[in-house]
Amino acid sequence: MSASRVGLDPEFAAKLALFEKKLLANGIKVILTDGYRSIEQQDALYAKGRTKPGKIVTNARGGFSWHNFGNAADYAFVVNGKVTWDGPWATFGKIARQCGLEWGGTFKSIIDRPHVQWTRGKTLAQMRQAAANKK
Ligand SMILES: [Zn+2]
Repeated sequence: MSASRVGLDPEFAAKLALFEKKLLANGIKVILTDGYRSIEQQDALYAKGRTKPGKIVTNARGGFSWHNFGNAADYAFVVNGKVTWDGPWATFGKIARQCGLEWGGTFKSIIDRPHVQWTRGKTLAQMRQAAANKK
């Protein structure tokens, strides 16, 4: 269930560590469920509910999610040893903001409460361009 932190932007990963510590100090235990996603993994997720069975879970194709650049993470709560998405999301969002993270609970398109991201003040277009230049 727990996702790997491999591929996360190191500065973002440090912010996540602080975030998790602050949550715990508030009695909230979380588990990382999703971190870095490759373009292929993102495209597979995008296909869900469109060309593949299931519910639509994202509006982002490969290269259009902060997960694809290691700058987004998704969480669930751990209550009595069990993973749950039923929990104190408002506090989660408040503490995320205190840690300098953007919270998906305030997104306009798909409200994505488990999601936090840190964009370095960049746009996804800039990130895609930078990745293309590296190839
Ligand atoms: Zn996410």
